[in-house]
Amino acid sequence: MKIHIHPEILKRQRYSCICCGAGCRSFLVGLRPAERGAITGLDDWAGRLAVEDLFVRHRSAGRLGFGLAKHPDGRCIFLDDQNLCLVHKEHGLEAKPLACQLYPFVLSPLAGRLFVGLRFDCPAVVDNHGDKLGRHVGPLHQLCKKLITPDIEALPPPAFGPAIRLEPNRLLTINEAFLKILTADDLSLHKRLQGLLDLVGHLERVKWDRLGDADFSDLIGLLRDGALAECRRYQPQRRPLPARGRTLLGQIFFLLSQPTTVITGTADSLGRRIVRRLGLQRSARRMGRPNGALPKVQPAWPDVDLKELESSFGPWTDQIDALLTRHLVCRLGGLNYCGENFYRYSMREGIQTLILGMVTAGWLMRISAAAAGRDHLVEADGRQALLTIDGNLGYSTALGFGPSRLRLRYLKEYLRDFLDWYCI
Ligand code: SF4
Repeated sequence: MKIHIHPEILKRQRYSCICCGAGCRSFLVGLRPAERGAITGLDDWAGRLAVEDLFVRHRSAGRLGFGLAKHPDGRCIFLDDQNLCLVHKEHGLEAKPLACQLYPFVLSPLAGRLFVGLRFDCPAVVDNHGDKLGRHVGPLHQLCKKLITPDIEALPPPAFGPAIRLEPNRLLTINEAFLKILTADDLSLHKRLQGLLDLVGHLERVKWDRLGDADFSDLIGLLRDGALAECRRYQPQRRPLPARGRTLLGQIFFLLSQPTTVITGTADSLGRRIVRRLGLQRSARRMGRPNGALPKVQPAWPDVDLKELESSFGPWTDQIDALLTRHLVCRLGGLNYCGENFYRYSMREGIQTLILGMVTAGWLMRISAAAAGRDHLVEADGRQALLTIDGNLGYSTALGFGPSRLRLRYLKEYLRDFLDWYCI
């Protein structure tokens, strides 16, 4: 399979590792049995690092079962005082687990190609730091030779909508239409997001089985241009949000902002786990209310009343629009919003989920501004919001369960209102 980086991603995104060690302090790196054996054979690690085990069994490792062990504060046991990985430093990049070599890139297979996306929970990605992405194609290609197995090559393409299956080339044509709207840079991001909803709405009404190949591209082009024209004319309305919708949206705020990917090396007792779980449920319920104290889901969150976060903190600046657009371009251009890499969501559900992510980012930016004592938003608020949500969006297992799908089915009716309320 060939590596494919979408031209819009190549144009907008750069990346070089800054060795901040952020990822090595949060995620648990799942390991294949052969990787565990290879790491064990490199050195007398257990003696050197003064740890009981190099590997831990943890549910976050998924089907692999085991991950690299961590210190109680969440730091990978191989991370040294200079934020460098000991395995990499002493034995070279290729000695590291494949997941570490790939991060922060994400690969999504479709039609014989591997579409490259990037994770915005990596500070170097969110800051657009480093080399042009073309420099990474060769190493990614080499890595894929080890990563891509026949099972991955045989994965089915994403559905377009629940129970709507289309040819891969048709999916890519639709994805290009989404990207065309998203990259209409003369419009505010708020309008472009409304335009994506317009296009999704038009596509929901298409009778796919009656559509021949010759008409397909023309129709998608017409619908795309219609959606662009509609969003240019769109006038936002700040309508009060329905109580049930706001409650369910609060659950999304919670799921996207809680630090689920920060895995520590301390195993809690059953009693502590129950207390923690009850505390999280309480926080999720409180975030569904329009007023009351903001729960401390993130340690840096300020003491504010939820009601303060329901008022606009002013329009998103051009810098915020550009940052969030770059993030969305990496999601769409890398097909990292649907299919096997994204809870098996259809493209339609994936777009709606990305929009809920932007609504959450709008709410989180207000928290970040309130923490800094500002009544307006700046780019740093957008940066903080993306670092927070992108650790969960597509990676936190809670978003893939049945209740999340039902929640999305209900909330999709209110996406326009949410955008008007939280994103301008
Ligand atoms: S989080 Fe990103 S920049 Fe930091 S060490 Fe990991 S890959 Fe490098």
